[in-house]
Formats: sequence, structure tokens, C-alpha cells
Amino acid sequence: SLSDRLQGTFDKLRGKGRLTEDDINVAMREIRLALLEADVNFKVVKRFVASCKERCMTSEVLDSLTPSQNVVRIVLEELTELLGGTESKLTMAQNRTPNVIMLVGLQGSGKTTACVKLAYLLRKQGRNPLLAACDVYRPAAADQLETLGKEIGVPVFRGDGQHPVQIAKDSVQEAVDKLCDVVIVDTAGRLQIDEFMMQEAVDIKSAVRPDQVLMVVDAMTGQDIVNVVTEFAERTDFDGVIMSKLDGDARGGGALSVREVTGKPIKFVSMGEKPSSLEVFHPDRMARRILGMGDMYGIIDAAQEMADEEQARKAEKMLMQGLTMDDMLDQLQSIRKMGGLGKIISMLPGGDKLLGETPEAADEKQLVRIEAMIRSMTQEERDKPKIINGMRRQRIARGSGHTVQEVNALIKQWDEMNKMMGKMRSMMNSGNMNPKQM
Ligand code: GDP
Ligand code: MG
Repeated sequence: SLSDRLQGTFDKLRGKGRLTEDDINVAMREIRLALLEADVNFKVVKRFVASCKERCMTSEVLDSLTPSQNVVRIVLEELTELLGGTESKLTMAQNRTPNVIMLVGLQGSGKTTACVKLAYLLRKQGRNPLLAACDVYRPAAADQLETLGKEIGVPVFRGDGQHPVQIAKDSVQEAVDKLCDVVIVDTAGRLQIDEFMMQEAVDIKSAVRPDQVLMVVDAMTGQDIVNVVTEFAERTDFDGVIMSKLDGDARGGGALSVREVTGKPIKFVSMGEKPSSLEVFHPDRMARRILGMGDMYGIIDAAQEMADEEQARKAEKMLMQGLTMDDMLDQLQSIRKMGGLGKIISMLPGGDKLLGETPEAADEKQLVRIEAMIRSMTQEERDKPKIINGMRRQRIARGSGHTVQEVNALIKQWDEMNKMMGKMRSMMNSGNMNPKQM
């Protein structure tokens, strides 16, 4: 995979003490090939590699004490930038009820399922969504939406089942009647760009003036992705992309091209078929994932989201005592024993509920790395990770055969998890959630 190839390239660099311009050239060539093989658009690759190279070929990097680490850092930064820099929020007018979100994209890209996932996500945020079935061409399309809507308990508006623009318009009134505060409009797609389909999407758009138009793009689309997103950008325009099927064996290059080619951010990624499998897209995390640096933040998010009072009580002990590195290591070892990311989640506060709902697989390799780093810490450092300063980080990195950046990332992960526990601790200490009163 792309990650494996890039990691291989970096491992080779790490094996060298000093780096020459030749070393950089070789590494950049490998990165270029890895990206091209992953279906990243060649113009995008060219620009990306050129800017990485320019930043790496400075005496500041080449003559530094840790040149290979600097190269990795630069590639990470450039990759994060390529993916959009920072996460891009769904922006909806505050003073408008209902808000309207419209999804467009080719047939089979995952629009209908994405509508449902988005409804699921918005409802978790306290919104009250209505789904509008505006694909009237595929006989089963509205049924599909209705079935999925039922599964998550979100109403579906079908109108007369014949006139998409009218259905979209009427769905807004339906939302008002039903006290729904956001309408998610599912539209029809064709297998290829098609004038009729485009015109219809444009008509629906001008009829309901959506707060957000999101284009659903199948991550498996290869080089053709550039034409497809460009065409939609010109015709219907859109505010952001939902990248679907990122759980499949997609080579992932599409995600890397979309932003650069259209200037539109990826807002969500879909990692499976379940309603809960839509995630906010974080460029930095994705870049880390691609570079094989792991993604513990996702777990933290998930746990934080699911933690409720009941679960908080269960986690009381760990909460009261704070999280040590050994706690973290314990969890990691349990994953290895029992297999699957689901398990670590179940061990986090509020995790029980999530079981069976997280489609991602744990990155085994990453766990081994984290374990090595924690094992290179002294007992005092493990108990009180706050004392791990720059010198200690360097020692831990050397001792475990990892980079300081990797140690930094681990400590950051710990810090976030610990903060989360602190937050829950203070929740429990205030008012009726005090475990001592129960
Ligand atoms: P539409 O034609 O654009 O509405 O596409 P659908 O929503 O009907 O999705 C087409 C197929 O892709 C369905 O079988 C979905 O279950 C599947 N699908 C959609 N999103 C994902 C995803 O993120 N991961 C996987 N594995 N399958 C997906
Ligand atoms: Mg559909």
C-alpha cells in the first residue's frame, strides 16, 4: 500500500546518518512513484514532490543533526497541506430553519448511504434531520432511503415519487411541519457525467438553495476522479466532498488529488456501510495514517462521544487516578491478545456501547511501535508522563529505535486521553454525578 511504500522509503532514510542531495533525490523519486501508483493525479504529484524537495534540499535540513527526521516532518507537513491543512466544517446558516444539505455525485458513489450517515451524525449533534428522496429514476432508490432511514429512526420524505425538483421543494415544507431543522436531499446520479442529470441537480439546487452542497466521491475512482470532480465543480458547484468507501482496497490517491484539483475540501470520509461509519475528515490525521504514523485521535474522539454518565461511573477508578502510560500499554496489550480495535475502545470510558460499531482495523504495526516506546520509558516517566521533556524524549526515541516525532505523537495521544479523563473527572465531581452519592 501507499503507507507501506512511504514507510519503506523513510526507513531507508533513517538508516543513514547524514543525508546527501542524492539521498534526497532517491527518496523523492520513491515518493513520486508511490503516489503515482496510488492513483494520485500526476500534476498533483509533480507539484507535491517539487515542494517537498525544495524544502528538503536546504543546508538547514541536510546539515541538521537529524536530517531524516526533518525530511519526514516536511513530507508530513506537505501532505497535510495537500489534504487541506485543517478540517473543514459544515457551515449552515444559523438563522434559517430548516437548513438544507444537498448531496450530488455519480450513481453508485454512495450518495444514498452518505445521506443516512450524515443524518445519523447530525442527530448525534442534537439536530433533527429529514431525508428527501429525490432520486426517482432508480425504482428502488426511495425504498433504499426509507429502509435505511427507518434503521436510524429518521423520517424520509418521498413526495409524489416523480418530480425531483418538486419533491425537494416540498421536503422543506415537510420539515417545517414536522419540526425538523435540517433537510438532507438525496439526488439521482448516472454512471457517467450526463447533461440531464447535471441540469436536474442545478434545478434542485436553485429550488432549495442548500446551505451546503456536498459531492460524494468514491475513493475507488482512479485517475478519472479529476474529470468527475472538475465537471461537478463547474456545473453544480459544491462546498466540499464526502469521500466514500475509504475502507475498501482503494489506493487512496483520489483523496490526495481532490483538494488540489478543485480547491474544495474533503469534509467527511466514509469507512464502511454502517450508518455510524462517517467521520469528519482531519487532514493531519489522514496524512499521519498515510505515513504510517497511526491514529489514536480517532479512538479518543469515539470514546469521548460515547461516554455518558453510566459509562463514566464504570471508568471511575481509572478516572480518579488519572491515566498513566502503563494504563495505555495495558490497553494496547489487551488489543494484541484479543485482536481488533473494538477491544481498546471497549476499555476506554464509554467504550462498551461502541463495540461492533467501529469498522476500522487496528494497525498492528503501530501498536508494536507504541509499545516499544513505552517500554523505553522509566517507571517514573510512565507514571508521570508530564516529566518527559525534550532530553528524555530523545533518549526514549533512541532507546526504542524511533524518532522524536513519534515519541512526541505518543505523548500527545496520552495527553489527549488524559485530558478527556480529567474532563470526565470534573463532571463526576460536580453535582449529581458524584459517584460517592450513588
Ligand atoms: P448512490 O447510487 O450514490 O446512492 O450509492 P449508494 O449509497 O446506493 O451506494 C452504493 C453501494 O456502495 C451500496 O452497496 C453501499 O452500501 C456501498 N457503500 C456506500 N458507501 C460505502 C462505504 O463507505 N464503504 C463501503 N464498503 N461501501 C459503501
Ligand atoms: Mg442513491
